[in-house]
Amino acid sequence: MAESLSAAQLSTKWQEASNRGSAILRYLGEQVPLIYCLEVELQHAEEELKVEQRLLYPLEYFLFGEEPCVGLEKLQRYNSSSSAQQCGRVFKEGETVYSCRDCAIDPTCVLCIECFQKSVHKSHRYKMHASSGGGFCDCGDVEAWKTGPCCSQHDPGTEATMETDECVMDPGLQERAQMLFHLLLQYTTDMLIWEENNDLSEELKPKVKEDSYFCILYNDEHHSYDHVIYTLQRAIACDQNQAQVYTALIDKEGRRAVKRGTLRTCQQAKDNIRRNSEHIIQKPLRVEVLHTAVMAHQTFALRLGAWFQKIIGYSVGFRDVFCQMALEPASDNDKLSLISRLMLHDAKLYKGARKVVHELIFCSLLMDTEYKRQFAMKFTEHYKQLQEDFISDDHQRNISITALSVQIFTVPTLARQLIEEGTVIKVIIDTVMDMMREHLDNNHRFHFQGHNPDKFFRVQVIFHDLRYILISKPSIWTEALRVKFLEGFRVFLHFLGCMQGMEEVKRQFGQHVEVEPEWEAGFTLQMQLRHILAMFQDWCSSDERVLLLAFQECHRALMSCTNQPFRSEPKDSYMCKQILHARPYKVSQEPVSIHLPISRLLAGLYVLLCQTGAIQYLPDFVDPAQLNFTELAEQPLRCIVLAAQVCADMWRRNGLSLVSQVYYYQDVKCRDEMFDKDVIMLQIAASKMDPNHFLMLVLLRFELFDIFNGNCSSKDQEVLKQWNRLTEEMLYLLIIIVGERYVPGISNVTKEDVIMREVIHLLCIEPMAHSTLIKSLPENENHETGLETVIAKVANFKKPGVSGHGLYNVKKECLKEFNPFFYHYSRPQHSKAEEAQKERRSQESSEKALRPPVPPPFRPAFSSIVNLLCCDIFIHVLRRILQKAVEDRSNQWTEPMIQRALHLVGQALLEETTQLENSSAEEVTFDFSLKAKKTGSEQGKSLLHFLTKMKSLPSLKVLKDMIAWNLQMFEVVKCLREKSSPAASFAMDHSKAEESVQDKEQKRKAEAAKAHRRKIMAQMSAMQKNFIESNKILYENMPESSSQSDTAASLDSFVMDVDKNRVAVGPQQGVWSLDWETLTCILCQEEQEVQAQAPAMVLTACVQRSTVLTQSRGKTLSPKVDYYPLFMPPDLAVGTHTGSCGHFMHATCWQKYFEAVQSTTRNRLHAELIIDLENGEYMCPLCKSLCNTVIPLIPVEPSSLNYESAQLVGQHLTLMRWIQIMSSRIRGLKAMWTADGSDAAEKAAAPFDEGQTEFRSILSFGVQEPPKFSRSITEMLVVCATTVHRVGLQTPPNDLCPFVPAMSWNTCAYTIQAVENMLQDEGKALFGSLKNRQLSGLKALVQFSAAQRMKCNQVVIQKHFADMLAVLVPVPHVENTPSILEVDFFHLLVGLVLSIPSLYQEEAVDLQPSAVSTAYNHLYLLQLITVGHMLQVLLAAHDCAVMAVAEEGDEAQAAAEFFSTVSQHTDRMKSGVLSFSVEGVKRGVLPFLRCAALFFNCLTGVPPPDELSVSAELPESQLPLLCSYLSLPSNLFQLFQDHRDVMTTLINRWCGNTAISKALKGEMHMIRYPRKRNRLIDLPEDYSVLLNQASHFKCPNSSDDERKHPTLCLLCGVMLCAQSSCCHEQLNGEEVGACTGHAAICGAGVGLFLRVRECEIVLMASKTRGSPYPAPYLDDYGETDPQLGRGNPLHLCPERYRKLLHLWQQHCVLEEIARSLELLNVMFPFEWQML
Ligand SMILES: [Zn+2]
Ligand SMILES: [Zn+2]
Ligand SMILES: [Zn+2]
Ligand SMILES: [Zn+2]
Ligand SMILES: [Zn+2]
Ligand SMILES: [Zn+2]
Ligand SMILES: [Zn+2]
Repeated sequence: MAESLSAAQLSTKWQEASNRGSAILRYLGEQVPLIYCLEVELQHAEEELKVEQRLLYPLEYFLFGEEPCVGLEKLQRYNSSSSAQQCGRVFKEGETVYSCRDCAIDPTCVLCIECFQKSVHKSHRYKMHASSGGGFCDCGDVEAWKTGPCCSQHDPGTEATMETDECVMDPGLQERAQMLFHLLLQYTTDMLIWEENNDLSEELKPKVKEDSYFCILYNDEHHSYDHVIYTLQRAIACDQNQAQVYTALIDKEGRRAVKRGTLRTCQQAKDNIRRNSEHIIQKPLRVEVLHTAVMAHQTFALRLGAWFQKIIGYSVGFRDVFCQMALEPASDNDKLSLISRLMLHDAKLYKGARKVVHELIFCSLLMDTEYKRQFAMKFTEHYKQLQEDFISDDHQRNISITALSVQIFTVPTLARQLIEEGTVIKVIIDTVMDMMREHLDNNHRFHFQGHNPDKFFRVQVIFHDLRYILISKPSIWTEALRVKFLEGFRVFLHFLGCMQGMEEVKRQFGQHVEVEPEWEAGFTLQMQLRHILAMFQDWCSSDERVLLLAFQECHRALMSCTNQPFRSEPKDSYMCKQILHARPYKVSQEPVSIHLPISRLLAGLYVLLCQTGAIQYLPDFVDPAQLNFTELAEQPLRCIVLAAQVCADMWRRNGLSLVSQVYYYQDVKCRDEMFDKDVIMLQIAASKMDPNHFLMLVLLRFELFDIFNGNCSSKDQEVLKQWNRLTEEMLYLLIIIVGERYVPGISNVTKEDVIMREVIHLLCIEPMAHSTLIKSLPENENHETGLETVIAKVANFKKPGVSGHGLYNVKKECLKEFNPFFYHYSRPQHSKAEEAQKERRSQESSEKALRPPVPPPFRPAFSSIVNLLCCDIFIHVLRRILQKAVEDRSNQWTEPMIQRALHLVGQALLEETTQLENSSAEEVTFDFSLKAKKTGSEQGKSLLHFLTKMKSLPSLKVLKDMIAWNLQMFEVVKCLREKSSPAASFAMDHSKAEESVQDKEQKRKAEAAKAHRRKIMAQMSAMQKNFIESNKILYENMPESSSQSDTAASLDSFVMDVDKNRVAVGPQQGVWSLDWETLTCILCQEEQEVQAQAPAMVLTACVQRSTVLTQSRGKTLSPKVDYYPLFMPPDLAVGTHTGSCGHFMHATCWQKYFEAVQSTTRNRLHAELIIDLENGEYMCPLCKSLCNTVIPLIPVEPSSLNYESAQLVGQHLTLMRWIQIMSSRIRGLKAMWTADGSDAAEKAAAPFDEGQTEFRSILSFGVQEPPKFSRSITEMLVVCATTVHRVGLQTPPNDLCPFVPAMSWNTCAYTIQAVENMLQDEGKALFGSLKNRQLSGLKALVQFSAAQRMKCNQVVIQKHFADMLAVLVPVPHVENTPSILEVDFFHLLVGLVLSIPSLYQEEAVDLQPSAVSTAYNHLYLLQLITVGHMLQVLLAAHDCAVMAVAEEGDEAQAAAEFFSTVSQHTDRMKSGVLSFSVEGVKRGVLPFLRCAALFFNCLTGVPPPDELSVSAELPESQLPLLCSYLSLPSNLFQLFQDHRDVMTTLINRWCGNTAISKALKGEMHMIRYPRKRNRLIDLPEDYSVLLNQASHFKCPNSSDDERKHPTLCLLCGVMLCAQSSCCHEQLNGEEVGACTGHAAICGAGVGLFLRVRECEIVLMASKTRGSPYPAPYLDDYGETDPQLGRGNPLHLCPERYRKLLHLWQQHCVLEEIARSLELLNVMFPFEWQML
């Protein structure tokens, strides 16, 4: 048995065999079926191990003739530097690739991200884009880059190792490699291109013939996924899961065995599948039946592909041998090399096999210049066959061998060789021609009606190849190159000949066209050819001889085109004593075509002849007698007239198809090789023909000849209108022919000048963004517009703000270039530009006339064009037009017509001035002004006459500036002719204009402001009206608002004192004054005061869970953690935030609105995505913010303390006493709750002796009656509290839950903390910097939380109070109280302050503490909590700097005392470690004090000290102010001194808690104070760093090489695998994407993600809602680049990122999403939960 032989033995045996090849093959024949395709399939790893051991290892042993690793080491020692110098990394689909705009030979030259990061191009103008797959990194290819061809990693260094790589390989090794590679490549080829009924060769045949077969299903693009699944289920009776697995694999690999069995059963399955799949689409699925052995060999052959790659990578020598073997012609008849056989079979191979073959080609043949050349020749040889196969194949191009063309055709030297030796231009065009032959009609022209778009799309791909070949034009021409190029050019002309005049259109009379004729195909072709045409011209221009010969060929081709012959003989036409001998032809009656590529190419070549000067030799190449310019211009003129007639609405009945064609004819995507060239052709003709004849021809073709001859009239309004429009168009054409000179060759302009002029004119329309400019400029074949080189010269850049994008404004000095009749303006652009420029001029009070600019002078060959402007026919035409206006024959002239005529007059006068300025009057023959004065002057009908009369015509008021300017110009010309100075007559009314400039400016500003205000008002009222309009019925039953204002007077008396005491807590407290002004309901517009008994007013509000403040991001957020909701854990992991947009309504109005929204929204298809109706969401009727509840406004009676009685009370009510009273009150209440009064025990255990304190003594310091609220207010209290509870705890609504009040306190506390956090983060002052809406929201929330208690069971509140108080002081019967380290003290403060009034409740009477009682309650609670918090801070701050012992002063001393007391209790656990600092404690306590100040401010309305409304440099400096406002000593440690006894006892108790000893031992995580502020993660400045990071991203759950979507969480920085089923998670029993799953934990449902490859932020809130948001990255032009569509380098914009941070901090993510969804209104929403 062979199995028993070792690799060494095998190798020797093979080596000694008489036929080594067949020995190896026999071994394979025996072994391969034992490993692959077994009855019971092996695990992948096991299979791989066997392959390595039994097959590959022996083969390598044989190759090296010894232990492979030993041989390999030797080999690498021989040629140490032989590692590949090219990167050659093959791109996966979606991988980011980079190209350098400065250095790449063409945009197809790209780098992988690693090479790019290490290359010089990183600092150049680079572009990035996502690869479509296939293709490889060009790093190291010297032909791909002008500079920097290698990155630092692939740089061969200075030693020229590349060339000396001629590998010195051991001859024996070389011989064995040749033999083995040939054998295995042959084997691989045979196996891959297997035909179903082939037989295995003798060597491979299995010894025992087994009757076991596979039925194999192949991938195709015709059948959908579902279809294949369906077919499989029916045909081979497998279940859906199995079918899905098969289908997925088939899609990925290209094929899959779906059944194993005997030949018969497999045949049956095959028939079944084919039959079942045929039902739906004509084409059956491809199925084959293969013997298991064959299948096994095929599988191994694929494995060999990867093995080859590995072996080749070892050494250049191996690579060379491999390439030789691949290219060696076979010995059989057709002599095809192995690589040719593989190429030619490509389209028949399945996906997986193709990939292996292509990768093999990449790493071998394409890595070496010489083999690349040989391969390219073979590729060219088979080119036609390959393309044909590709076109009939249905796979995508990126997995076709034809896609390799970009790798070889774009290499400049290779391209030239292929042209010279392989006539590749001809080959390519012949291939296209063959493919398109079926579209030819009888006249040998293309006709695409009814073509197959899919196939047509594939054919177009061939044009890319032609473009690649032409990409780098030769610097040196050889004779061979000339011959072959011209041969290709001739074939190209032949191809164009089939387009010349194709798809003619004929004007439709009477009836509208029935079927819109096909036109897209023709234009697609034109767009494909656009760059090719330009490149051909470019090539021609680089060699004089080629240019002349090309013109000759082109002219010949045009002459031989028999398209659109004239139908009748020439006739004579007369006008102004001129005779034109021309054939009649009417565009409106005879067929006309838009496609004239040969005419246009000829025009292009002609201009090049002029530009290069080669025109002088033209007569040697083309007989001048043969050059009939009238004839050459005929077709282009017809086309232009067609466009004009379409514009004049004459072709209405021909449908949209024609309109689209005319649009594209002049559009930026086509115009340079269509409209522009037609204009040039007319300019050529105008320069060569007699001007009068030329104009007469134009008039004839415009069908205006008779009209201007005066022998044609009509009363038909429609016809008159058409004539007018045609006249306008005709005049416009004349303006263009004379004035458009910005073409190199026509005048002496450079390409740069041309682009500058385009840019100026675009910016004259309006300021534009870089990307808009790019889109509006023509691209060359390298996708460059040249914008960057000129933009700085013509425009100023205005940076973007935090939204929007950067804009370019045209420079003032460039405005003189502005031509309102710029020929690339579309109609709307023309009027917009004209409008903009007029307005600008009137603002600047500069010259108002939009006069024609002075054009650059024509080159000599074109200089006679200007004669058009002074010929008789021209004067005649203008006179007739002006006459009509002067005589005001209505319907016979239009304002645009006159405007154009005036422009032409201006052009003529400018020309005359220029000529007069350059030479003496006698020499100048250009005599427009003379003719304009003379012709017709006898009857007073000269041009000048008319012009003078027009000046005062009211009907031409709009044009008066232009008329005036023209008249002035006449004066100038006159003076020039008379040689006198024109200055005298030039005196304009300039002075008048100037004086009022300032006034005007002011007035304008005032006007603008007024207009703006008006606009906003209108918007607002429209919004409301809309709403009221649509909800009219609701308003009919509205109750009259019942506002009593009798308390208003009493208010005033207090207002005066408000300023006195700026203390919000304790006996010094200032006046409570929390007045809601009279509010206007946004719905009914009624005014309403907020009063206890009045109908409730409510404020829109949105409650949401939040992790903005969390100190432990990512912690699992189960709502029942620890002590929540009664105690907020100090890490603030998740809180409940309540925000508001600050809009008020009547509760009743809101309820009606809400009900209406609920019912209408249900009927709106898309609204439910935005609004979660089940959760009570709605949009604010005014501002569209998303809300889910309302906060009722609680009226607060202004009240002030009686300071005397307060002082009196203070004398009795010490802190100690207060604690005793509280304690005994709670004890008493407890007794009542338990009813039986088991009060006996424990009294002794209490640290505070309650003494004689009695149950009711609490009441003795003052009680009063609580306010009574109207029903609607109490109702709203419940509504709001229930929502807060439901959202905050994520539970079903339950208004009886005892935690309802606790949640109200929580949201109050949390919202204040969030606000404080935000203010601190933005460096804003604590008071006075909140927006109004935020402030009223906060006030309403605090008041609501305070009042909510009254709607609850008082016992519940009392119990809560007791539980909370127990954290601070011992409370009887309360156990399991959390330690002070486990509670957030601000939440505790809010809870205690808001619940304490309930203690005053007596069984039968509703009571609450009086103002004095309240003052002391607040004071003591705050004092206790502050000290507790200080201790909390201190305990957590064990690594703070040690307090300087030497520190002096009261504060230091008090602090030291405090510290020493604390350390007494902690020393035992942590001796010496507890270090401390006064500043540290103060810093840690500060946020708490700030929150407390905000809280008491909102609760009491006592104004804070003014200094707190100023933002402080050092926040700590405001500590004394905060303390005084809160009635705390500014030396906080004094609190300890003041109440030493109480405090010592308490500290003793607090520190005694076991949790504290645990924490100090480090067994429990402690929160540090001040808490860290959460921000979004830091993003790199350069976006490609992120891309790089993403390219290294590995999905945690799968290892397949599918494209992933790395997505970055901006809250915590984790990279997720989005949109991929591999990373789906379960969330509440529902399958969701990785991002949704992560957001649930990381942000309590809110998520901010950056999709790295797409460069886009995704905002998420709750499972189903999300929206895209621009990433905070901008390119150098101040624009974002979603999807990296433009690919410019991107840099972080910190302002925008900060804006995003604020969006999150202020809890506006949900709102932002709702707003953008409302805006988008998508029909098919994105499934956000799958992200
Ligand atoms: Zn690379
Ligand atoms: Zn590299
Ligand atoms: Zn570069
Ligand atoms: Zn109302
Ligand atoms: Zn609002
Ligand atoms: Zn996160
Ligand atoms: Zn994944």
